[in-house]
Formats: sequence, structure tokens, C-alpha cells
Amino acid sequence: MSIGLTGIGAGAGETPVAVPPIRKIGVIGAGLMGNGISHVAAIAGLDVVMMDVKPEALTRAMETIARNLDRQIKSGQITADAKAAALARIKTAGDFSGFGDRDLVIEATSEKEELKRAVYASLTPHLRPDCLIASNTSSISITRLGASTDRPEKFIGLHFMNPVPVMKLVEIIRGIATDEPTFRAICALAEKLGKTIAVAEDFPAFIVNRILVPMINEAVYALYEGVASVAAIDTALRLGANHRMGPLELADFIGLDTCLAIMQVLYEGLADSKYRPCPLLVKYVEAGWLGRKTGRGFYDYTQTPPRPTR
Ligand code: NAD
Repeated sequence: MSIGLTGIGAGAGETPVAVPPIRKIGVIGAGLMGNGISHVAAIAGLDVVMMDVKPEALTRAMETIARNLDRQIKSGQITADAKAAALARIKTAGDFSGFGDRDLVIEATSEKEELKRAVYASLTPHLRPDCLIASNTSSISITRLGASTDRPEKFIGLHFMNPVPVMKLVEIIRGIATDEPTFRAICALAEKLGKTIAVAEDFPAFIVNRILVPMINEAVYALYEGVASVAAIDTALRLGANHRMGPLELADFIGLDTCLAIMQVLYEGLADSKYRPCPLLVKYVEAGWLGRKTGRGFYDYTQTPPRPTR
């Protein structure tokens, strides 16, 4: 099924907006989020080129996608044929030379503004003028990122949650210059991927991370100040607030570098000291203890079950 040129969402009396169809996408970054985005797009029938500068990230991403598709077969969500078809729709690349026929590029590189800007500068000369660009950024201004490209009106925030194949929500964020057809096309795509949309204004960290990451940072402060141990903090929030995961376990799952980057964007973007990153979080990131993805964060993942480090 294609999205086609429709007037999605046009109410009575409104002029329908021509919504560009999205059939072929590029995904930049094959990390935690990039592999999940490629997975859900391929299952929905889109043609995907997944690009990363690290060949080993691409290999790992394809293995992760295959494993996660197997999980979906086991739980009866998809058939073995659907898995094979989805894998066949994903190609990997080490550069942008195959991006010339893409309708949309979703950028999911690390949460660093200078890196994202540099990626757009080398990406855009390869794209069709009408190709849309979406960033999966967790916190950085969509207006500012869009302004750094040659197409701010076709630039938008499309913020998936981790793990992408499981989590239902996407946040959609318009920059000040984002045009209506781009917004409608991205809403239609999100629905095609089976996601529920929450539209957010372009403020630092949008909705989910504006609320969630300061809570994680507060949990790290509680640990830093000796209020309680890692296990006690996580048990308290799991059983006392009925959260599925404790905040420190969740921080390891998200990646401590990503959590720190979001706190820095909140701190600088809102100029309020209540968002100052906890020094212990900074220290863990400086040590390279980034959580599950590096085998150690607030828990040591070389042990089964993972052992709290404090
Ligand atoms: P990650 O560290 O797992 O993956 C980032 C990938 O980008 C790596 O594979 C890296 O090799 C690649 N990369 C770095 N420089 C590149 C370049 N110049 N060109 C191409 N690829 C490059 O990070 P992640 O957790 O997948 O996060 C990616 C984005 O998604 C960030 O903006 C993050 O804030 C956002 N995000 C993360 C989460 C989460 O829970 N981790 C949730 C929602 C959104």
C-alpha cells in the first residue's frame, strides 16, 4: 500500500494538502535506534538503505534485526515469509551514494549537534530536492537542525522510542519552517508503521524526555548523595511507583551518554539550574561506562543477572 497523494486530515472546507508518498527511505546510523527504525520500516513494506560509518555497526544491526524478527515470529506477530521479505528490503551502505532515489531520510546518529550538522552537509548533495529529512534526535532543536540544511521546510523531528519494534509512541516535532505537506507525510508514515503520534512543539527534549530524563538524573543524584543503593533505588520505583523498569536500569538501557546529552540540552536550552546533570552521570560517561551497550553502567552486564555496581 502506498500513502499516495491524499488530503490526510483535511477537514470540511479545508483545501486538501498534497502529501508526498514515502516508499523508499534511508536511515543514517545503525545503532540502537537505526536498526529498530529500519526493522519497522521494512516490515511495513518500505525499501530501506541503512547507512553507518562503522561497517561493524551495520553487521551488528543486521544480526539484531534478524534476531528481533525471530522474536516476532515466535510470538505469532509475523510469519517466516514476512521476515525474509523484510530482510530483503534492507540494504546496508557505508556512504550516501545510494541515497539519490530516497523519498525520506531518517537520521539516527549519536546525539551530538555538530555531528548531525556535518552529516546533513555531506548528505544533502546526494538527495533529490524533494526528499524529506527527519531527525530522531531526543532533544536537539529541530528548527536549528533544519536551518543548517538546504531544506528547512522539508525537515522535521520524528522521535521513536526504544526498542522501536515494541514501543507504540512516536513524537512528531515541527521546526518553525517545516511545511504542512512534510508534517502530513510524516504523520501518514508513522501511522503506516503502526505507531501512535504525540505532536510536540519544538522545545528542548520535547515531551517524553523533558519529563523522563530529569527523573533519571534525580535517581543518579540520589545514588550520588548516598540516599540509597542502585538496587534500592530501582526496587523503590518499580514497586513503589509501579514503573516497569527502575530509573537506573532504564538509564543503562537508553545509554548514559544519551541521557547526559539530553540533560545538557535541557540545562543549556532552558537555562534553569534544576536541569544540571549529576556529576556522577558525567563521571560514568567519562569512564566509558555507557550502560548495556558497553557492558557496564549502573549495572555490570558481564554477570548474570546483571550486578549493581554501587
Ligand atoms: P547509538 O550510539 O546506538 O548509535 C549511533 C550510530 O551512529 C552508531 O552506530 C555510529 O557508528 C553512527 N554514526 C556516528 N557517526 C556517524 C556518521 N557520521 N555517519 C553515519 N553514522 C554515524 O545511538 P542511538 O541510541 O541509536 O541514538 C541515535 C539517535 O537516536 C540519537 O539522536 C538519540 O538521541 C536518539 N534516540 C535514542 C534513544 C535511546 O533510547 N537510545 C531513544 C530515542 C531517540
